[in-house]
Amino acid sequence: MTGENAKPLLLTNVKPMAFGETAQTGTIDILVGGDGKIAAIGQSVAAPADAVRVDGKGAWISPGWVDLHVHIWHGGTDISIRPSECGAERGVTTLVDAGSAGEANFHGFREYIIEPSKERIKAFLNLGSIGLVACNRVAELRDIRDIDLDRIIECYAENSEHIVGLKVRASHVITGSWGVTPVKLGKKIAKILKIPMMVHVGEPPALYDEVLEILGPGDVVTHCFNGKAGSSIMEDEDLFNLAERCASEGVRLDIGHGGASFSFKVAEAAIARGLLPHSISTDLHGHSMNFPVWDLATTMSKLMSVGMPFNKVVNAVTHAPAEVIKLDMQNRLSVGARADFTIFDVIDSDLEATDSNGDVSQLKQLFEPRYAVIGAQATVASRYIPRARKLVRHSHGYSYR
Ligand SMILES: [Zn+2]
Repeated sequence: MTGENAKPLLLTNVKPMAFGETAQTGTIDILVGGDGKIAAIGQSVAAPADAVRVDGKGAWISPGWVDLHVHIWHGGTDISIRPSECGAERGVTTLVDAGSAGEANFHGFREYIIEPSKERIKAFLNLGSIGLVACNRVAELRDIRDIDLDRIIECYAENSEHIVGLKVRASHVITGSWGVTPVKLGKKIAKILKIPMMVHVGEPPALYDEVLEILGPGDVVTHCFNGKAGSSIMEDEDLFNLAERCASEGVRLDIGHGGASFSFKVAEAAIARGLLPHSISTDLHGHSMNFPVWDLATTMSKLMSVGMPFNKVVNAVTHAPAEVIKLDMQNRLSVGARADFTIFDVIDSDLEATDSNGDVSQLKQLFEPRYAVIGAQATVASRYIPRARKLVRHSHGYSYR
């Protein structure tokens, strides 16, 4: 779809941001050749007669948005959505799957999801062999029999272009009373492979505190601003100070909103004290998309509503996650570079949005994606419109889906 036979693409009237200091200011035109590379940039660019034209109408254009935490091993796990549900049509050009696949089923994820998708897809490999096959029903890290060091190393060797790190879900729903040991094992393998580790913090054990002590520069703690008892950085001053110190030393705090892991109150208090997340991600999956996450643009708007500045929000879905996955962000707006952009507006709004704790915040400003540009292909993008919430009965009660 982005191959040699594509027509050239002319983007007009777009306003660049987050391309670095040398980038142009004011609105410009960008011509993308049929090969997917930028052919010309300027105030008024002439295009070949057969070019597809997209009028940006003065919208922002930034490097393509990166969602560092999604679940898109659709069909291979019971929790994942399709890449198309959270990718280009939502303004996102790079999706990072956070441990849906383990070494036992990564080959299917590569063949059926990574290779056919138009979005760039990278993955954190689950430390547990089975990944999230039956998420939170058949736990992937019950004891040491669920981890196969040799096969993980082998799987990485075969898929190093796709795998950007290891994922460990360290909360008692998964690890029972195994505590922090799987995080230590994960760190050992990550060191051997020289890749970062992403750890999910949630219901202890393991404690968020213990996880931070194990992580090092380049590692990621996801669900950083969760509001769970025993795992919130705002209920324990020592934990807040530890998180602040680790962040200053290079541990990346990632939002990972999800169904249960983002609190407006925690985020607002942390940001007011100067502790910002490194990256903003959604943790989109089948049980979080319809309520309360929706998409990356809404999650970005939520962070802006609790005090994170506009340019830092955009950085947190472009340069910051790109650093984690080692995606080159140099000279993204220059002739010869491959086109990878998100075109978006920020509009006034009175939309009410809910966090994972049921708290509501009014989003006075809303990120509205207009197009995702991947090579010479521009995909019309918009925020997700949630379906009506449905009360669903399951084995341990009711929940909204
Ligand atoms: Zn997740």
